Amino acid sequence: MLILRIAVDTPLRRLFDYLPPTHAPLQDALKPGVRVRVPFGRRQLVGILAAVAEESAIAAPKLKAALEILDRHPVFDAVTFDLLCWAAEYYHHAIGEVFAAALPAMLRAGQAAASDRPCWDLTPAGRTESETPSNRRAPKQRALLAWLREHGVQAALDLAVRFSAADIRASAARGWIALARDSASAVVAVAAAAPAPRERRGALCLTPPQQQAIDAILATRNRFAVHLLHGVTGSGKTEVYMRVIAAAIADGGQALVLVPEISLTPQLVERFRKRFEAEPATLHSALAGSERRDAWRRAHGGEARVVIGTRSAVFASLPKLALIVVDEEHDASYKQQEGFRYSARDLCVLRAQRAAVPIVLGSATPSLETLENAAQGRYAAHALPQRPGAATTPRMTLVDLKRHASEQGLSQPAMQAISAHLAAGGQVIVFLNRRGYAPTLFCNSCGWVAPCAHCDARMTLHRRAAQLRCHHCGAQRPVPSICEACGHELHPVGQGTERIEETLARLFPTHAIARLDRDSTAARGAVQSVLERVHSGAARILVGTQMLTKGHHFPDVSLVVILDADQGLFATDYRATERLAQTIIQVAGRAGRAARPGEVMIQTEFPEHPLLNRLIADGYEAFATSALQERREAHWPPYARLALLRAEARDAARLDAFLRAAADCALLGDEAPAAAAGIKVLGPASALIARRADHFRAHLLIEADGRPALQRFLGQWLPAVERLRAPPGLRWSIDVDPLQVD
Ligand code: ADP
Ligand code: ZN
Ligand code: ZN
Repeated sequence: MLILRIAVDTPLRRLFDYLPPTHAPLQDALKPGVRVRVPFGRRQLVGILAAVAEESAIAAPKLKAALEILDRHPVFDAVTFDLLCWAAEYYHHAIGEVFAAALPAMLRAGQAAASDRPCWDLTPAGRTESETPSNRRAPKQRALLAWLREHGVQAALDLAVRFSAADIRASAARGWIALARDSASAVVAVAAAAPAPRERRGALCLTPPQQQAIDAILATRNRFAVHLLHGVTGSGKTEVYMRVIAAAIADGGQALVLVPEISLTPQLVERFRKRFEAEPATLHSALAGSERRDAWRRAHGGEARVVIGTRSAVFASLPKLALIVVDEEHDASYKQQEGFRYSARDLCVLRAQRAAVPIVLGSATPSLETLENAAQGRYAAHALPQRPGAATTPRMTLVDLKRHASEQGLSQPAMQAISAHLAAGGQVIVFLNRRGYAPTLFCNSCGWVAPCAHCDARMTLHRRAAQLRCHHCGAQRPVPSICEACGHELHPVGQGTERIEETLARLFPTHAIARLDRDSTAARGAVQSVLERVHSGAARILVGTQMLTKGHHFPDVSLVVILDADQGLFATDYRATERLAQTIIQVAGRAGRAARPGEVMIQTEFPEHPLLNRLIADGYEAFATSALQERREAHWPPYARLALLRAEARDAARLDAFLRAAADCALLGDEAPAAAAGIKVLGPASALIARRADHFRAHLLIEADGRPALQRFLGQWLPAVERLRAPPGLRWSIDVDPLQVD
């Protein structure tokens, strides 16, 4: 008996068995990776055929038949299909949800995987005709054949732009061209033969370090190798990416480029478009459903040579993958923080390995684990130490907030520097990673602080919107005019970007200010218009949050002021200092990218803090060396491996009881999974914000010596936790390689 084992988009960690559809297609159409429509409860769902088996654990009369096989060919290239199966195991996540994360919604709903645009292709007769013309009286039709021979399958719409309808009809009538039916496979076949999009070289003369990096990457063409491109911001990393991509696609290959956030870096896509005279396929969350589907199809069909996307693009189907680039590899957005919690950066490395292609990880501030991999010789490191041309590395200084007077968060030296740079015609960036007007609304008389009714947190004052908002659960309400506890007056305490903008407007009334944070850019297209105001020079001061750190290129910015470096200094999370160092270096990198020399001022209450001083005096690499030393001593990643079991429930006692029972599953009994060497089970511990949106949150932390030990442990332990049957209203999840231990 033939059994279809189907991955269905549900949270259950298993496959579901079905009989083939009653009108069974040929057996060879049942390739793993095709989509299958199945009855599921009272619904019909589209699942992925994960495997074909001979027998099922379920008795035959109980098995239902699948309804329809939707594809003749798998919707994933072979490497991606394996990668998804591997990821479901490694992250211990339901395989149906893993496959679902990899497909655009419209394909999950059953739409065709191949582009359904009609395409023209040469027939064999047409190919012969184009090589040895028999008919010399139809120059236009000969030109049409030559064009198709040179460029391969063309969408009917594109061909109609170049040639008249009469010539297309006549060529078809003579049997020289035909409408391609299965266009996706036709396109794959032809893509290899079609000439690569021409790379338009700028007049750039590569620097020696750029040339060395490019040579080293090209030397590993057609095999797996990880290259770390460690270059300060503006050192020409993108130029290196473009040269190696050009080489990869010249042989008919496809290149995958991952970026943290596309909407923030439209310039990057624009640079690729111009350079390669071809439309890169872009995959990111801001796309409309049909745009996402079309981009996915162009990738899957091999038509798109360059695919640029955010996190989930790691799963794009790319039958001719030849190179992967992960830009800003340290960026936290590569880690999916809910549902299927994967690291796109890590999966890219694995994908490159399985596809036997090189991968380039680029960053000015590589993550500590990547630096450690380079130090161990697993990754080849290439440094771009300088900015090309006149641009110089900015000068950084600390401003001691205890010694200098400040006004609404701006110190005297910072204000003086801002005026000086503005007077000299430069632009200024002011960075504060806190949006809203003020983080606290405070009563001097009784100490009331506008708490959120649903979280253990304070509400943030948003003055322009006249609201208090909780940044943890999204609750919002009108601003009270008097203290709700004692009736006295309330005062905003502390600074958010909205308040800094107000202060700067008062201090520098003749200079236009732009603000870049999630509040100022909530409307569609707002990011573009803010960036545009800075690029055009209309705005002279730019205030913003984390959004500022993402690879923008503002040639006229000469001063960066970091208002509050201290947020990360004493955080409990073991990665907090790494993140702070990266943020400082990334924001600082916005200054002096072109001809103007840059200056960076960092305000702090702790100017003697060793981390800050190491970073400023000796640079990021020196910081990373000491930080890695600390990690090694404390037995933290990358010198240990972690997993976090998070749980939340409305009832604190049930939450605690569940986590204790889960810990017992690991620790008790003769064959306790945690008895294996090097496994530690820590907790239960409350989350930093112990109650959020009316749910109590706590976790167990698992620490292991290495990946294999952690995987063995989770493989034994999680099934036992599942058997505990969590009480109603309690949700739990597992996070392998968590970014935050909270
Ligand atoms: P990164 O990606 O490291 O931030 P980019 O590749 O964007 O750096 O380069 C920063 C600027 O320097 C860009 O304007 C780019 O055109 C320019 N640039 C890059 N390489 C060179 C070079 N070899 N010579 C001159 N200018 C260069
Ligand atoms: Zn009060
Ligand atoms: Zn809240």
